[in-house]
Amino acid sequence: MTGFSTDQIHAGAGPEGEFGARITPIYLSAGFVFDDFDHAEARFAGTEAGYVYSRINNPTNAAVEKKIAHLEGGTGAILVGSGQAAVTVGLLGVLKAGDHFLSAPSIYEGTRSLFRDNFGRFGIEVEFIEDPLDLDEWRAKIRPATRLLYGEAIPNPKNDLIDFEAIAGLAHEHGLPFAIDSTVPTPYLFRPIDFGADIVVHSASKFLAGQGASLGGVVVDAGRFDWAARPDLFPHLAESVDGADGPSFTEKFGKQAYFAFTRGVIASRLGPSLSPFNAFLLQQGLETLSLRLERHASNALAIARWLESRPEVESVDYPGLESNPSYALAQKYLPRGAGSVFAFTLAAGKPAARAVIDSVEVFTRMTHIGDVRSLILHPSTTTHHRLPREERESAGITDGLVRLSVGLEDADDLIADLEQALDALATGSTGAKAPTGRRITTTDEAVPVL
Ligand SMILES: *Cc1c(COP(=O)(O)O)cnc(C)c1O
Repeated sequence: MTGFSTDQIHAGAGPEGEFGARITPIYLSAGFVFDDFDHAEARFAGTEAGYVYSRINNPTNAAVEKKIAHLEGGTGAILVGSGQAAVTVGLLGVLKAGDHFLSAPSIYEGTRSLFRDNFGRFGIEVEFIEDPLDLDEWRAKIRPATRLLYGEAIPNPKNDLIDFEAIAGLAHEHGLPFAIDSTVPTPYLFRPIDFGADIVVHSASKFLAGQGASLGGVVVDAGRFDWAARPDLFPHLAESVDGADGPSFTEKFGKQAYFAFTRGVIASRLGPSLSPFNAFLLQQGLETLSLRLERHASNALAIARWLESRPEVESVDYPGLESNPSYALAQKYLPRGAGSVFAFTLAAGKPAARAVIDSVEVFTRMTHIGDVRSLILHPSTTTHHRLPREERESAGITDGLVRLSVGLEDADDLIADLEQALDALATGSTGAKAPTGRRITTTDEAVPVL
């Protein structure tokens, strides 16, 4: 077995095409030619493997799918246009109207709204666990209509880890799949499938691509879940693929039934396809994943330790710190590093957060994570602004909380940047450094971010 750094370069890639290009090229073509009448028929019947139309499959995307499936330890991957598309497609491969599912409480806000509002409109009910470390609460909330358990690998901004192995065990006891959004650690820091996850989703817009330029998403199937064991729970997989008389997904695809359904019925029909151009950028990013994640994590740990020593800082939510409640879980699940997206809380609340955010010069004020650049944001007035104050504060998103996505710059420069921002707080000289000013906006449409 080869190591991760070897695999991130070689898995899924092969000498390609008639010119022998070493890197899988961008096959930016809507469709693929049929040699003759019979060829077209065979491609449509699925009796011959090959490409038909880029919404369904594409050679550039397929190479990246193979690479990611390999790195995650899964049997297949489906690339889609964004992380939100990956969560949607990945879960709609399991859930239908009338179903219920359980989610850990600390999840990406876009996903929370997707579950509550959009899935709610489809008649799919989400229920959030209050204390995800209490296995009895998960157990007590499983009902006859429950079809899936869901959580995030390193939830941001609080980094409050869950016990993946325990929750996976509980899901399987009840014949249910366990799905994990593993955007923040990436397979280099954590492989959810090794600890029992059945479905892994990612926003590839973050660390997987790494450059902060392109969006993308991916659904990975562990290929282990026995969908045929409970046809009453997953009737869509126990039903015919091709009309009343054909075999069911489970008969035809066995443990790949979910994957075949999710690709063929969900992803390709809803149509959130990833452009082969973006797949190519993702491919370039993946080849350096381990190097980047090592640096992200070591920078983050250095900054977290430094922040913890500062008197202006009340707390630092980084599970790589011994003082953090998730430290023991991080030691078990994240031995290579605890990621690089975390928050710290300024004792002096919102005015201090405003001053620090307006004073940084190396950090960029932006909503995104997993960029090569270090980013800073105030969750309570941005990503979490829609939550009622009470709900926000009970989730730990207080007015003094500042989120960092630590990039790949020199740790000393990042610390120096935060130091001058915190020092300015003490001397009251904030705001003196006029921020760069507002950009001229090139759209006249102000879209509220919900
Ligand atoms: C960003 C993010 C998403 C959404 O991904 P997009 O690519 O922005 O659609 C989902 N989950 C997590 C954990 C994320 O950080």
